[in-house]
Amino acid sequence: MSVPPQVIERLKAAAGPKGYTDDPHEIAPHVEEWRGKFHGHTPLMLKPSSTAEVSAVLSICHETGTPVVPQGGNTGLVGGQIPFAGEVLLSLSRMNRVRHVDAAGAYLVAEAGAILADVQAAAEGAGLLFPLRIASEGSCTIGGNLSTNAGGENVLRYGTARDLALGLQVVLADGTVLDMLRTLHKDNTGYDLKQLFIGAEGTLGVVTAAALSLFPKPENTVTVFAGVSDPAAAIALLSRLQAASGGLISACEVIARFGLDLVLAHIPGTAHPLRSHAPWYLLVEATGPARFDLRGAFEDRLSRAADDGLVADAVFAASEAQRAALWKLRESLSEAQKKEGASIKHDISLPVARIPEFLEKATAAVTAKIPGARPCPFGHLGDGNIHFNISAPRGADAAAFLAQWEAMAHIVHDMVHAMGGSYSAEHGIGVLKRADMARYKSRPELDLMRALKRTLDPKNILNPGKLLP
Ligand code: ZN
Repeated sequence: MSVPPQVIERLKAAAGPKGYTDDPHEIAPHVEEWRGKFHGHTPLMLKPSSTAEVSAVLSICHETGTPVVPQGGNTGLVGGQIPFAGEVLLSLSRMNRVRHVDAAGAYLVAEAGAILADVQAAAEGAGLLFPLRIASEGSCTIGGNLSTNAGGENVLRYGTARDLALGLQVVLADGTVLDMLRTLHKDNTGYDLKQLFIGAEGTLGVVTAAALSLFPKPENTVTVFAGVSDPAAAIALLSRLQAASGGLISACEVIARFGLDLVLAHIPGTAHPLRSHAPWYLLVEATGPARFDLRGAFEDRLSRAADDGLVADAVFAASEAQRAALWKLRESLSEAQKKEGASIKHDISLPVARIPEFLEKATAAVTAKIPGARPCPFGHLGDGNIHFNISAPRGADAAAFLAQWEAMAHIVHDMVHAMGGSYSAEHGIGVLKRADMARYKSRPELDLMRALKRTLDPKNILNPGKLLP
């Protein structure tokens, strides 16, 4: 497809002199996915600086039937932010202000293009916490976080992006502005429309600003790294520690030994934190008030868990540097796996209690399909989200291995579906998982999603070809 020159000129005028670029060099990084997995192209990147400009742009797109792809920090993993068919790109990057922090009300209002790390810093500056914590926080944006319902490491305690949004400002496909920047905890006035746009990946409207919940800044952080025999022991240990802390656990990450071995082999400056190896590892972090002896509570439960054979060995971070070193083991997994060679990735979630059964069955199934394939499961055990990644067999041809991606995904996702889980826990659908939507979403749910899409975007101009099969 191509956008007519007169439409391009109208869009440029609507976005203002600094509000667009058609320079291929400036556009290039915005049409490439950061891992090089997805490539797109566009004749025009719009960079509006206000909600009014976004509205003007979308009303022209609606009138002329011009498709448009909204983009935040371009950190998405499923291709949702890429203009594959030459659509106009709508970057929210210039709308990057934190407009207002209300410490007493425990919320802030940020524009869609605000970088997540800047929002975290604004909260911290007011003595509070914005708890969304994901690997890309230095470059991802609030608008993207909401549009993809980002998850990450603190979901167990604070929920996903969806749970952190008090209010939203959204521009609809025809340019209509929905001002829903309310900051209420109770608002029982019918359908919660803001939730329609969260996790919609820009297919129903463009998020331009959000009111976000803030929380008390932790005075005391306890981080412990433990070796356990199997995932069932990890879950049992988590529930004991959760009870010991009164529900103050903010993160609970699981790592298979293979993953830790890859990190130790490939990432400089890492070291095994325990005296001996274990089949599985658990990284648990809890935060609370200074006067509550979290560490003492954990030590007590860990020693009893050791007596019961649930935990082999454990170490507490004794300093901020040690805490960072423990987290580096978890956060380097993707990079270490990349250095080991090709990998096929699955971002799945399950009821927590079914994770041990899944890991056992899925490991058997994928290694039966590709002998020598090396599963590298890790992830957010506490909220049921496992990144069930599979490294290629040693010495395997990368292209031949990656050609099995779809067949492998069917095996893993069929199993997840049968166990009441989800084929996309936190990365979204984009283009990567559209076929899974057709395969696993129930017919009535898909019909309702399509009806909503037709109602809100009758000309199908907003991120066409994404999310819906
Ligand atoms: Zn994750």
